[in-house]
Amino acid sequence: MSAADIILKDARVLTMDPARPAAGMVATDGDTISFVGSGSEAESFTSPGTKVIDCHGKTVLPGFNDAHIHLFSLIRKLLSIDLSPASVSSIEDIKEKIREKAKKTPPGTWISGTDYNEFYLAEKRCPTRRDLDEAAPDHPVVLSHRSLHACVLNSAALALAGIDNETPEPDGARIERDLATGEPNGILIGMLGHIRSEVMPPFSDEELAEGVALADRHFLSMGITSVQDATVSNDTKRWETVCGFVLNERLRSRMMLMAGAPYWRDFQKVNMTTGSGDNLMKLGAVKIMPAEPPEQAALNESALDIHKAGFQLAFHAVAEGTVAAAMTALEYVNSHSPVMGRRHRIEHCGECPPYLLERIKKLGLVIVTQPPFIYYSGERYLATVPESQQPWLYRIKSPLGKGIVVAGSSDAPVVPNNPLTGIYAAVTRKASSGQVLLPEEMIPAQQALALYTTGAAYAAFEDKIKGTISVGKLADMVVLSGDPTKVPPEEIKNIKVEMTIIGGKVVWEK
Ligand SMILES: [Zn+2]
Repeated sequence: MSAADIILKDARVLTMDPARPAAGMVATDGDTISFVGSGSEAESFTSPGTKVIDCHGKTVLPGFNDAHIHLFSLIRKLLSIDLSPASVSSIEDIKEKIREKAKKTPPGTWISGTDYNEFYLAEKRCPTRRDLDEAAPDHPVVLSHRSLHACVLNSAALALAGIDNETPEPDGARIERDLATGEPNGILIGMLGHIRSEVMPPFSDEELAEGVALADRHFLSMGITSVQDATVSNDTKRWETVCGFVLNERLRSRMMLMAGAPYWRDFQKVNMTTGSGDNLMKLGAVKIMPAEPPEQAALNESALDIHKAGFQLAFHAVAEGTVAAAMTALEYVNSHSPVMGRRHRIEHCGECPPYLLERIKKLGLVIVTQPPFIYYSGERYLATVPESQQPWLYRIKSPLGKGIVVAGSSDAPVVPNNPLTGIYAAVTRKASSGQVLLPEEMIPAQQALALYTTGAAYAAFEDKIKGTISVGKLADMVVLSGDPTKVPPEEIKNIKVEMTIIGGKVVWEK
């Protein structure tokens, strides 16, 4: 037997591999797992060069795979003021945070805040330009709403954006105004993308470097060894940029980047398709963002083109109407060229009544769900989603029961990445308020872990190299302070990541 590079001993190994669900030790050789065995077998692999890690009975799992995130938005968030309900509870809190940031920021430099949500603010309204002017009169300020549909600008930012009383209503967007004077109140609907790309300067090299370092630590500290970026604006230039981060080991989690639907031909021109790249940086599916409301004929044709070119498809579909449109498009594709086995993905699948679940099953699709939405937004869903849709929200047990593969993800920065929050929410269906969303959809912890390991690997066509602790697979593992399958469900969200290992290297330790 050859000596190992790393041995994890005295471990409670949950392999996620049905052929051998539990073990006491794992050995690695290079970047792969070379042996999985009982505790007593550790000795025979140890040589003077072996790094022996005594886990003292702690739990070892395959590294977590967050199957749907947005890297650059996350970087922006990590560089911005966090205005989520976890961080602020009133407009006064928001103003205080902006004041603090303004003190440390040269006048004239943009200040960004993300994730305000009036539903959780004491005042039960959105902040306006006046609120922001009081906090930072000398800096342009932009705050983005949790949904990313709305944003608020202060007067300095509105001036830079050229928005005043005379500005006509832009196509498909809205400038909220004081009804009496016509003066914009700072709230813009559907204009955040424009503000970020056309009005704000791009990240400076220093900002980007700082943001990438923050994102790297962020993933590793949560045991996330693989991420899949589902951004519809991903083009070949973005691919090159992220390749640079990965090559320089500034991003150490394994990256999968989807191609945005508008750019898939550019990838094809340079002979890239789903699966191109290597185990550190890979091209994923083509991300399709259907129009609202969906234009069925156009959706059908573009889905067919992309499918025929050999790419995996990933449809953004939250509401029932959009999920149905994605199904109709995939059924159209299937009538020309079989989709079974192509693992086309439905991202979110937020409202999925039984008739749609049937169609998903028939086409062999993968659902990429966001269990942490239950935790962070469950209270809001219960209060605002129409009663007729309530029984179909972010269901997990029902699709699993039909044999549909479900992958877990965060959609970060929409909600925080922490997979253990998602696993907790999938098991308990509990919102942070304690309210329960669809108790009949609760799943056992073992299945919840599968969402972020085997399920996510399958969704990325990486089930042969990731997702279980098995000989020959990549040595991506996480050491946890507790066993999610054994602690009381309420404790799952308090489990801590103690160590993260990628490709046989310890990349993070508590
Ligand atoms: Zn997303």
